[in-house]
Amino acid sequence: MKMQNGSLEKLTAVGQHPISYLRELQRHHRKKIIGCFPMYVPEELIHAAGLQPAVLLVDTRMALDVAGMHVQTFFCGQIRALLELGLRNHIDFLEGVVFGDICEPVRLLGQIWRREKITPFTWSIRYPVTMNRRRSEEYLHLQFRQLQRGLEDLSGKKISQDEMKASIQLYNQVRKLLRDLYVLREQKPGLLSVVDFTRICTAAMSIPKEDFKPLAEGLLKTLELNKAPSLNSRPKVFVWGVCGPPPEEFLEMIEEEGGTVAMDDLYVGSRYFARDIQENNADPLATLAAFHFEQPPCVTRNRGVDTDFSRYLLERVERSHSRGVISVLHKYCDALGFEHPILSERLRSAGIPELCLELDQGAFTAEQTRTRVQAFLEMIGLECGHGK
Ligand code: SF4
Repeated sequence: MKMQNGSLEKLTAVGQHPISYLRELQRHHRKKIIGCFPMYVPEELIHAAGLQPAVLLVDTRMALDVAGMHVQTFFCGQIRALLELGLRNHIDFLEGVVFGDICEPVRLLGQIWRREKITPFTWSIRYPVTMNRRRSEEYLHLQFRQLQRGLEDLSGKKISQDEMKASIQLYNQVRKLLRDLYVLREQKPGLLSVVDFTRICTAAMSIPKEDFKPLAEGLLKTLELNKAPSLNSRPKVFVWGVCGPPPEEFLEMIEEEGGTVAMDDLYVGSRYFARDIQENNADPLATLAAFHFEQPPCVTRNRGVDTDFSRYLLERVERSHSRGVISVLHKYCDALGFEHPILSERLRSAGIPELCLELDQGAFTAEQTRTRVQAFLEMIGLECGHGK
């Protein structure tokens, strides 16, 4: 049953085609849009400068033509697809792009972007290599201060403390709305499909937060009044992985084949809105740096031997009462590739079945994937004593 709701329709339409939406936004409102490479770019700072931040989420299955002249085929689809869009002038409406160097390929992409002058403004944030020392936090604070100056030069105005505080507050309000929607979906999975929720998240990363907020509030009100079909007998799965969104067909398949996504650890998902930034601090930039410094364990961050990503993930899986885990990995992503065997081993020891889906640029074999998803759901459905 498809719910009739204007907010849902608007949000999912943007979430389905975020790049086209941003092009229109720039054309009609003449906004200076700053693309943020996923993940961990301090959008609040860009917003406080009077610019429009937007997370760049691209279809990693697009056909490549020119990107191969600059990067080898062993770069992940995320990097190659964005470079392709940039070189083909498909995102020439962007005023700039900010890269947070979450991995070596992103560092190289930032250099190519600057050299090729793809956008007038290109900025790379150098994250500290280890994230467990006081000096590293000071270094990150300094990196954000330099970005602040770069944004001020671009926008031609100084960012005041009050503007920064107001942006943090607005972003916190949006994060809370997304969390409320997420919890509602968790309690009543039949209310909102996983594809619609992912599109809403994508929309939150694209639409100006001032415009997203009333739409999400309207949607939440409608959903709270709605009766959801009970899906409690369906096998629950936990999805984690890539820094971009998993292919929609794949998420759709999980529900079509009788499963339900109980929780996730995805950037276009719970990672984007899990925590809030402290408000009303005398130094909002320091608060922003502290927030990014204290992110939950992530495969792209080295937080020392005490912080174990797989232990953190396993705890979340157990809390979600999921019967199985689906790992969505990007081929050639070292960060995911190094962590995945450790997690697999831990899941095996805990008796939690896992399905691993590796995405290669351009190659997503729907029928083959469907068979694997089907078999996996049948297996965990049988193990937990439910049929489909
Ligand atoms: S998928 Fe991996 S390699 Fe690609 S950009 Fe993300 S973290 Fe880097």
